[in-house]
Amino acid sequence: MEADTIIVGAGLAGLSIAIKIAEKNPYQRVIILCKNKLDVSGTYEAQGGIAVALHPADSTANHANDTLKAGKYLNQLEVVNHVVENAAQKMNELINWGMKFDIDSKGNYSLGLEGGHSMNRIVHHEDSTGKEIHETLVKKALSLENIVLFEHFFATDLQVEINHKGQTICKGITCLIPNVEDSITLSANFIVLATGGVGQVFSSTTNPVVCTGDGIAMALRAGVKIEDMNYIQFHPTALDFPNNPTFLISEAVRGFGAYVVNELGDRFLFDWDERGELATRDIVSLGIATEQLKNKRKVYLDCRHLDSTSFKSKFPKIYTKCKEVGYDPSKQLLPIAPAAHYLCGGIATNIYGETNIENLYAAGECAYTGLHGSNRLASNSLLEALVFSDQICESISSKMEKTGRPSNFDFFWIKPSSLADTSENKFIRELKNLMTSKVGVIKSKNSVLDAQQELDNLFLSFRNLDKNSLKPIEWHKTNNLFLVAQLIIEQTLKTF
Ligand SMILES: Cc1cc2nc3c(=O)[nH]c(=O)nc-3n(C[C@H](O)[C@H](O)[C@H](O)COP(=O)(O)OP(=O)(O)OC[C@H]3O[C@@H](n4cnc5c(N)ncnc54)[C@H](O)[C@@H]3O)c2cc1C
Repeated sequence: MEADTIIVGAGLAGLSIAIKIAEKNPYQRVIILCKNKLDVSGTYEAQGGIAVALHPADSTANHANDTLKAGKYLNQLEVVNHVVENAAQKMNELINWGMKFDIDSKGNYSLGLEGGHSMNRIVHHEDSTGKEIHETLVKKALSLENIVLFEHFFATDLQVEINHKGQTICKGITCLIPNVEDSITLSANFIVLATGGVGQVFSSTTNPVVCTGDGIAMALRAGVKIEDMNYIQFHPTALDFPNNPTFLISEAVRGFGAYVVNELGDRFLFDWDERGELATRDIVSLGIATEQLKNKRKVYLDCRHLDSTSFKSKFPKIYTKCKEVGYDPSKQLLPIAPAAHYLCGGIATNIYGETNIENLYAAGECAYTGLHGSNRLASNSLLEALVFSDQICESISSKMEKTGRPSNFDFFWIKPSSLADTSENKFIRELKNLMTSKVGVIKSKNSVLDAQQELDNLFLSFRNLDKNSLKPIEWHKTNNLFLVAQLIIEQTLKTF
């Protein structure tokens, strides 16, 4: 099978790039692959929203300053300015595609407040912004006849070649697909990796099961530069209730006035930062983890003083989920703990989303664009994916030849099935526990060195395993998780 462009990943990054390329180049064919069902993605789970400086007292300069401050000024200034300056335009683009953002009683966009933002700045759709974005983009993508979407296609490796000038060029991708024993190779002129985050490397994460870092592992094997893997963001307020993924209680709830308290009822976060609950995520997570692991105190989110009617209408998903697992936010404290949430580093790209391999692009959470520095400002990631989709479309379109659609273009759609692999073998379980206990929110050089040693031993037993004893997708997923965990450890060790 061939396409002009193959996009691996059907989250916001993959879908928005596909839509733009397909609209701009109606005679070019675009294939989007995803390894699970279409609605299993980080995008679908997004709650809080998208940061856009719309308040009359706000400005893109304020948004840029907050982004830089959150990222400890390790961000790339040019990228930060470019992203914040394009935010309002990207929001309007989503609205034109059919997205609905909440409106306040005065008819203006309702602007939420989240940690690290000096102003109310988050446009949202209740607390299900991601689902609304996903549905909008899927509808739009399916309306374009030169886009084809395949579910349950598990991309395993990039096909690269060296050309006569000595440049490495990406030519396609190999995949495992349902009911087909051998892997297949899809050829394309351009490949975009939009495979999302790596949260599943940790035992406690808000990331859905698809976030196993496959795109990063594939890129690494092909010789692509990967940067800043040590900057994993832990979200401070995941519901402390065993589940994979753990349920997130959006920062917007703290923006709405919820307190973080310990079992003594103290709002101890003010000992860490004058902004208390609304300090940036790195600070709040460290404060909570220290209270739990060192001071041995339980930590809760307290919403009991908030107007419960407004709470229910603003956060219906959170309210329903808490009730479902036995907590009524208007009457009970909600147990919380930090969970791996967002990868600030990833596949290194330039401002056009181009990697160091010709015709290979990366976008969304798997990409390292330089926007986030060491700690992402809340609600900047959906925005980043949207803004970069323009440059990637521009770069690919300028390189495309207008060849017309080849006749062998198959339009078909693999229906959602139960084939998704969500299993966890003993290697994955041990790896995740190791990463959480020794490379989590609280870590030291010694704990990370220990983790490296233990991970190497575990990896060795995995590689000595008879490959046929695991299903091919499970083998690839486990192998990728090991590579990503090793990268995180290696790059973390450089920071001590
Ligand atoms: C609970 C939660 C809440 C969040 N809230 C917000 C928020 O309010 N605002 C904000 O800005 N950000 C938020 N984020 C972060 C944001 O949602 C993600 O960073 C963003 O959606 C990532 O989009 P993406 O397109 O890069 O990847 P994703 O949306 O995660 O999509 C990844 C895609 O890649 C596919 N894939 C992966 N590996 C393979 C493979 N080997 N082969 C084929 N396909 C593959 C998957 O099937 C999936 O389709 C939140 C994240 C979570 C988890």
